[in-house]
Amino acid sequence: MARLAQTAGLTDIQQEILSTVRDFVDKEIIPVATELEHRDEYPQQIVDGLKELGLFGLMIPEEYGGLGESLLTYALCVEEIARGWMSVSGIINTHFIVAYMIKQHGTQEQKDHFLPKMAAGDVRGAFSMSEPGLGSDVAAITSKAVKDGDEYVLNGQKMWLTNGGTSTLVAVLVRSDEGHSPEETAAKPHKSMTTFLVEKEPGFGEVRPGLTIPGKIDKMGYKGVDTTELIMDGLRIPADRVLGGTTGRGFYQMMDGVEVGRVNVAARGCGVAQRAFELGVSYAQQRHTFGKPIAQHQAIQFKLAEMATKVEAAHAMMVNAARKKDSGERNDLEAGMAKYLASEYCKEVVEDAFRIHGGYGFSKEYEIERLYREAPMLLIGEGTAEIQKMIIGRRLLEEYRLQG
Ligand SMILES: Cc1cc2nc3c(=O)[nH]c(=O)nc-3n(C[C@H](O)[C@H](O)[C@H](O)COP(=O)(O)OP(=O)(O)OC[C@H]3O[C@@H](n4cnc5c(N)ncnc54)[C@H](O)[C@@H]3O)c2cc1C
Repeated sequence: MARLAQTAGLTDIQQEILSTVRDFVDKEIIPVATELEHRDEYPQQIVDGLKELGLFGLMIPEEYGGLGESLLTYALCVEEIARGWMSVSGIINTHFIVAYMIKQHGTQEQKDHFLPKMAAGDVRGAFSMSEPGLGSDVAAITSKAVKDGDEYVLNGQKMWLTNGGTSTLVAVLVRSDEGHSPEETAAKPHKSMTTFLVEKEPGFGEVRPGLTIPGKIDKMGYKGVDTTELIMDGLRIPADRVLGGTTGRGFYQMMDGVEVGRVNVAARGCGVAQRAFELGVSYAQQRHTFGKPIAQHQAIQFKLAEMATKVEAAHAMMVNAARKKDSGERNDLEAGMAKYLASEYCKEVVEDAFRIHGGYGFSKEYEIERLYREAPMLLIGEGTAEIQKMIIGRRLLEEYRLQG
């Protein structure tokens, strides 16, 4: 079923990659997703399959062993994967953001050291900005790094790390006030932040001296993928693991990573909405009330019409945002709009598909129950709707500034 959300102008290679991923999703993900999700089980077999397909290295340049594909190819793959199970797209998303940040901002040594292993899926990435006391307000980060000889000593607590347990490399954003007076730091807090590339063992407990991953956070949805806290207590990191080699650039590096991450969250919203539409349109033709399939009642047809229109609109905006970034242009406005619209529409389409299922939508036997618990995460992750609107609003005022 691929009549909605078509993308014009794809190359033969892009079409081949997408058709392989779609096939994998239909055969290997959709049949097992709901059962694994209910058990909150990590989908190891699916992850191994994605590794074999080369998806962990999709956007990593060929010279480092990746496929060197565009953000658009990546986003369309994410859309397909999320159509199968959103948690699986979460497993590759943080990896992709960290690889992107190393590719864009890393030193040559960091690229040579990490990217080939990341392309093979042997090193898997997570990123960590949020803390117990903050998420949207990144500049308020309190975790801190202090220089000690050739090393930095990191202390503080982080929250909400997707893939915190399963990853072996975490890009951690902390405060590092080197060379700044307290007044300077207070005036420009984002200029005193640094991203550290922290290698660790996978698993829970003390995964490196001074670094503890306490355990999985129990979530309402988005299960299977682990989301954790991270505690740094005298964690010693060598100076050559400062992303890009220079302190004070972490905020901008992370925002660059999150910008491409936003296109991916939009793509996830598109994928989940597509699946909800598929489930709704199928159920509506099977369930009969008042002597006919409910799809023949105009009220239900109107719902299907609205759902399909939202699927199409979100897909178009997501593709536009990815293409803008691929062309080398700034895309924060488009990415913010795509993320905002796709996540809101996803929630609405899922809700409509749930209503079409009547009472059965409330049963764990039906896939829509899982989608109903997954969609809200997209409203929060990679910046809430309010934060997207702040970004969009600021950019609009830049573009439409009155002269004179
Ligand atoms: C399942 C899951 C996985 C996650 N994975 C990661 C991860 O891998 N790495 C990571 O670093 N973080 C991760 N996060 C954290 C996520 O990025 C934050 O939850 C998100 O940015 C919101 O921050 P918050 O929860 O602290 O909410 P807050 O920032 O406290 O916001 C609370 C409410 O206030 C609103 N608000 C805040 N500021 C304003 C304002 N100025 N104007 C108007 N409204 C405002 C928000 O929109 C929201 O509605 C994850 C979260 C979840 C739920």
